[in-house]
Amino acid sequence: MNDDDRGDLARLTSDLRAAVAWHARAGAFAASARPTAAPERTEPADDAPIPLGRRILADIRAELGDCQRCKLAPTRNKIVFGNGAEHAVLMFVGEGPGADEDRLGDPFVGKAGELLDKMIDAMGWSRDAVYVANTVKCRPPQNRTPEADELAACTPFLHAQIDAIGPRVIVALGKPAANTLLGTNAPISSLRGRFHDYRNGARLMPTFHPAYLLREPDKKRDTWNDLKLVIAELERLGITPPKPPRA
Ligand code: SF4
Repeated sequence: MNDDDRGDLARLTSDLRAAVAWHARAGAFAASARPTAAPERTEPADDAPIPLGRRILADIRAELGDCQRCKLAPTRNKIVFGNGAEHAVLMFVGEGPGADEDRLGDPFVGKAGELLDKMIDAMGWSRDAVYVANTVKCRPPQNRTPEADELAACTPFLHAQIDAIGPRVIVALGKPAANTLLGTNAPISSLRGRFHDYRNGARLMPTFHPAYLLREPDKKRDTWNDLKLVIAELERLGITPPKPPRA
């Protein structure tokens, strides 16, 4: 290194020291001087992660919004989105809201709902440990069967809910629910009593709708036999109910 090089190096060093001193006074290096560990929080932040299923269900509900996607919207009072455990292993899907559900915004709250509660209880479960929804989320006038265009508009939200919840077994209550979930038009009598594959590994058991059982109580025995198959399938999957099922 000659004298010129030494002079250049000395000027560079001096300039660098001056620049560092200026940045230090300006606080530019203050952040890098702090510990890198995140500061402790005593309160959850607004953006704190929430459980996956909960976030997805909430997103689905938000996307549904004040839905006007089909002709059931103008006559409904409340959208009946569905309720229950957000990661339920057991899910029930009915046809559509009735008058009580439309008024309250919850699925299966009328007479048929009371019977569904008894069915779930006999299986050893409770309503808040399973998830309950319908093929359409708005009441069809005079409780008629949902029409194809209504199902086409609404069931993508049901499928999204099922994906978010991830149930191992789905009980389809009645022909419309079974046909919608299985993509068939077969009568419920030919579908019930055996498992069908839904998707993502979920097993689907069609059975009679509680409203039908109120009119045809002699079908309760067949329904209970279907539900016993559900209990056995859950047991096979290593899933035991919160309390022993009825024998
Ligand atoms: S039934 Fe479903 S698609 Fe039709 S308006 Fe209601 S929420 Fe929307």
